[in-house]
Amino acid sequence: MPGGRGFSTVGGVPPRPPDATHVERLSEVGRYALGVLWGDKHDSILPYRHLRLTCPCEACGAAAPTAPAPDAERPVKLELIGGRSIFIGWADGHETILLLDELRDLCRCARCAGEPDYPISGR
Ligand SMILES: [Zn+2]
Ligand SMILES: [Zn+2]
Repeated sequence: MPGGRGFSTVGGVPPRPPDATHVERLSEVGRYALGVLWGDKHDSILPYRHLRLTCPCEACGAAAPTAPAPDAERPVKLELIGGRSIFIGWADGHETILLLDELRDLCRCARCAGEPDYPISGR
């Protein structure tokens, strides 16, 4: 795929290489976190609680961000949708759909937190 043309950037966020938002493998890290191996070989460990708090649905957006019940941070179903999103079914019956791009944004590893590989807008 030559160049990176054809991306439509929204909100000034530069596009990532496609590999960076391609999920190679999902795994369980301990009992409380999701492990994601990305197409660019990056490894993310994302606590379920964090994923649940990030749920972009209307119900969660309206609710006050309180500490969720244990069932609310225990996924019973994890599924990739069309290679672009991830579906999470929680034990309390709630469902979360996140874009893989958003999922990658949640990575707080030393590399992602300390070395942003894109320029901060406004310099
Ligand atoms: Zn929600
Ligand atoms: Zn990272």
